Amino acid sequence: MKVYKFGGASVRNADAVRNVAAIINNHDNGPLIVVISAMGKTTNMLEKLTGTYFSGELEVAKSILEEIKTFHLNIAAELFTRKDHTIFDIIERTFYHLYYYIRETRGKNYNYEYDRIVSTGEFISTQIVSEYLTQINIFNRWFNARDLIITDSNYRDAGVDWLKTEKAVKSKVLAWFSKHNQKPQPVAITQGFVGGTTQGFITTLGREGSDYSAAIFAYTLGAEEVVIWKDVSGLLNADPKKLNNTILLKNISYQEAIELAYYGATVIHPKTLKPLLKKNIPLKVKSFYNPGLEGSIINKEFLNDNSHASYIFKSNQILLSIFPKDFSFIAEQNLSRIFSEFARAGIKINLMQNSALSFSVCFDEDKIKTLPLLKNLKKIYHVKYNTHVELITIRHYEKANLEEILEGKEILLEQKSRITLQWVVKSKQSEEVSAEGL
Ligand code: ASP
Ligand code: MG
Repeated sequence: MKVYKFGGASVRNADAVRNVAAIINNHDNGPLIVVISAMGKTTNMLEKLTGTYFSGELEVAKSILEEIKTFHLNIAAELFTRKDHTIFDIIERTFYHLYYYIRETRGKNYNYEYDRIVSTGEFISTQIVSEYLTQINIFNRWFNARDLIITDSNYRDAGVDWLKTEKAVKSKVLAWFSKHNQKPQPVAITQGFVGGTTQGFITTLGREGSDYSAAIFAYTLGAEEVVIWKDVSGLLNADPKKLNNTILLKNISYQEAIELAYYGATVIHPKTLKPLLKKNIPLKVKSFYNPGLEGSIINKEFLNDNSHASYIFKSNQILLSIFPKDFSFIAEQNLSRIFSEFARAGIKINLMQNSALSFSVCFDEDKIKTLPLLKNLKKIYHVKYNTHVELITIRHYEKANLEEILEGKEILLEQKSRITLQWVVKSKQSEEVSAEGL
């Protein structure tokens, strides 16, 4: 049994969906679970929709909703030969229900409403793909991930209940596989990113969480491998949009991949690797343009881990510096105070460094979360910060061309271990601000 994951780019239009179907059709024997994201940029649009719904701009919300619906109807019109195919009804009904929902309910819990609305992207994409596979005679069944991936009610970043999830996946998906153990092999189609509470409320696993969904299914069923199909040839040592001459990393270890994901490499969602590592399930990253190419594999082999430097660029960072007003040292008392403020604000620290009298932290810019943090910190500390800085992480930097990376950039902070070099650098939009006036 294998798990395939297709992201938004791999189902962004009708041709892309046909390509996905061809890849599924070519899989070797054995049952297959296919995890699919929302089509193209649908999730971003649905986020916008949620925002306007929440601020009471019903007309704007409605026009965004119409735009998303038309996008899906157009893709379906290209894929389905019969104009009275049930998929058109499904799309109309889904968006009618969504419209009715935003018109009739005044949500109070943003994260709850977000999951309810944004998950629509995955529900509709998987139904289109499933119906299309049926049309071209690929035996498949659509499963609702809300009933499979059982989570707590931490909306937008739900935590998985592994025991309940394993039970649900086995009793639903595995049972169906066993019942249809014939050739051609059964294909289970389900949503990435989506889960549900025991009461049946929809949750999501965090942006880009579909990789994680694939890993959860693989873990619960002890799959042979997970393949993530992407628009790049595999795992590259940098984002090709940021750096020329990237190199394909053919085989790296789980540990190295976890480090890369942790520092912000966007190829794989950071939570994906742990469940796979636990059961020693290999993760392949392959190109959906060239399915015949080998791509990359992440497993327990360390062979290629340090054969190349890897570069991770994280922009839109804040570099914050904190100074105790009474010139007390940055020691246990102050550190525990500072960390609890960060935890309270729900901000994840990407890099930190301290001297005797100051503490510097780099984290993702998020206006909603940052303001309360700054207000609380400035009660006890002098606080200064730079906006729009970039955090550059270089793994295996002894193999890197550092001058090239640094050209024209000003370093605000540097940190080095034996393997990893990190710089916080200024960008053109960087601004230095004092928190005193807040
Ligand atoms: N559709 C979701 C997102 O864009 C989940 C995913 O693609 O992994 O974040
Ligand atoms: Mg995606």
